[in-house]
Amino acid sequence: DSATADRTVDSVCPYCGVGCQLTYHVKDEPANAKAGAGEHRGRILFVEGRDGPSNQGRLCVKGRFGFDYPSHPARLSRPLIRREGVPKGLDPDFDPANPLTHFREASWEEALDLAASGLTQLKTQHGPDALAGFGSAKCSNEEAWLFQKLVRTGFGSNHVDHCTRLCHASSVAALMECLGSGAVTASFMQALEADVVILTGCNPAVNHPVAATYFKQAARNGTKLIIIDPRGQALDAYAWRSLRFSPGGDVSLFNAMLNVIISEGLYDQAYIDAHTEGFEALAASVVDMTPEVMSPVCGVEPEVIREVARAYAEADRAMIFWGMGISQHVHGTDNARCLISLALACGHTGRPGTGLHPLRGQNNVQGASDAGLIPMVLPDYQPVGDAQLRAAFEELWNTELDPEPGLTVVEIMDAITAGTIKGMYILGENPAMSDPDLTHARAALGSLEHLVVQDLFVTETAQFADVILPAAAWSEKTGTVTNTNRQVQMGRAALPPPGEAKPDWWIIQEIARRFGLGWNYAGPEQVFAEMKQGMHSLDHISWSRLEREGSVTYPCPADDAPGQDVVFSDAFPRAGGRARFSPTRPLPPDEPVDEAYPIVLLTGRLLEHWHTGAMTRRSRVLDEREPEAAAYLAPAELARLGVEAGDAIDVVTRRGSITLTARVDQTMAEGMVFVPFAFVEAAANILTNPALDPDGKIPEFKYAACRLSPA
Ligand code: SF4
Repeated sequence: DSATADRTVDSVCPYCGVGCQLTYHVKDEPANAKAGAGEHRGRILFVEGRDGPSNQGRLCVKGRFGFDYPSHPARLSRPLIRREGVPKGLDPDFDPANPLTHFREASWEEALDLAASGLTQLKTQHGPDALAGFGSAKCSNEEAWLFQKLVRTGFGSNHVDHCTRLCHASSVAALMECLGSGAVTASFMQALEADVVILTGCNPAVNHPVAATYFKQAARNGTKLIIIDPRGQALDAYAWRSLRFSPGGDVSLFNAMLNVIISEGLYDQAYIDAHTEGFEALAASVVDMTPEVMSPVCGVEPEVIREVARAYAEADRAMIFWGMGISQHVHGTDNARCLISLALACGHTGRPGTGLHPLRGQNNVQGASDAGLIPMVLPDYQPVGDAQLRAAFEELWNTELDPEPGLTVVEIMDAITAGTIKGMYILGENPAMSDPDLTHARAALGSLEHLVVQDLFVTETAQFADVILPAAAWSEKTGTVTNTNRQVQMGRAALPPPGEAKPDWWIIQEIARRFGLGWNYAGPEQVFAEMKQGMHSLDHISWSRLEREGSVTYPCPADDAPGQDVVFSDAFPRAGGRARFSPTRPLPPDEPVDEAYPIVLLTGRLLEHWHTGAMTRRSRVLDEREPEAAAYLAPAELARLGVEAGDAIDVVTRRGSITLTARVDQTMAEGMVFVPFAFVEAAANILTNPALDPDGKIPEFKYAACRLSPA
């Protein structure tokens, strides 16, 4: 009976940062044509939600149905090497399910030797700064640790980054600056304890669907839900107030709220005196930013600004959640600074039902960042430039480390174009789809002298590779991941990888050995043990505890204590224990709309499609539900264009043009268009602006000037 599972395996969802726990129901039989001869691959029949701390049995459509991508016919099962004379880049005739037109199969020995020798030769010829690596927020903590260690101790620089740069780097920059810690101050479950919850620049029903169920539940229990976003969303139906501000007007709106709170004396003086510094400077900076002055900039009526500012300040317990609508701007760090100032001014941190929570995107973006996949900090956010902190890692790894911060994602692309970076190792990231201004990014990838890509499929980025190394999918390996709530969770292998594919930790170790590093980890458990020596955030969290309990929140005060869901009750991890206010001034978007390009382009994700679509577009149910690249527009905008839903339209920016199907979206305001970035046939990032936030180095994905026309 094919519907009867032989066994179950408990793990964690591979998609978003909510980190839902789930159970795979597995049939042990050879069911995959890609399986090696005689290999019992088996298959996952279905997935059930488990009673994890962040999901209590719930799953969204991705977690429930998006588990079949590892069995897709295009799945890589042997290492590939580019054939002589085949040019690098996206060839419209290339079929990822039949890669042998452009690549030839190779043994692991040959592929690893070629992958590593290409990189070591460039290092020998040009020095350590000629190499860089992108790690992955979809790999385990142990794999993130090994990857950054390889770049730092093998490549010899800090040129290592990952997709946090494209999602919450600005939030982390502001949190580090103001609070001394980049992680959330309280879990999203704390929303159930709050009197007021602000959701801004996020669309949880689409991007963090199980977290959205907690927000709905809170609203049903009487919590005042305030939604602040240029675009409408499903949770508006539960909102006490829903504010649609003009794109790019967020800093103006938040400063106007601070002006109200300070001018009306609604701040918490006792909290400010006991826990913060710099309040006077903040108060002085917002004195002229009244609701009346800011209203024309942010598009929200002065009385509405006053009403929500009062509601937030006067609540006993209030929380702020935000997403990439806040972070992906040239003023993304300023946006987060404003939200932090709101919380500090009102004393809304450190107690149940209070806090600041950037909703993290990928399932392990928190853990990959903690483990050091960041160019300016070592694991646990210890600055590479601090000699004392660096010395501890030099002792642990028995080598000298580069004291210079490395380059970030977009800076690495610029350095390739400038000819300084010549070789890259890219693990599970897809910059040929995810970077801004793809024409530039793809040209950069194509000009690399040596590119090694490690992934499940011949992704768009892998089509630029010299060597492709086939990796195990999440459901085929064991390791830990850390979700948006700081919950470290155990993922377990349900199936063996197909053919000769290997877990990422094994492949990274083989590359490291070819750099002469002599690593000999038997598996992820040993790597985790080493991580605990360098990361105090993992104190009292052991591998055996995670195997037993499934999830432990950091920081954790004792081996038998639950971790701290809410932090900073007494002090902040800054000198003197005080948080800092950081004043801001409104800045215009980098590329304001004008006569030639009068529409604001927003990009993002869909409920069904995850990021660049590498997994979800190869998942049958998810792709059938949402198979088409579309542009989402207000009905009036369609009418203005003279097209109907279903017609093709061109979306054009100063960087390029794509053609999509027009779709009516009642949540969109006039003057805006939303385009998801999962579809290679109409890649949204051909259009996006690579201008960076100066602190977080994050591109402005949430605002580009475009024009629309019937195709
Ligand atoms: Fe997976 Fe996120 Fe959906 Fe949970 S909410 S099932 S973690 S995609």
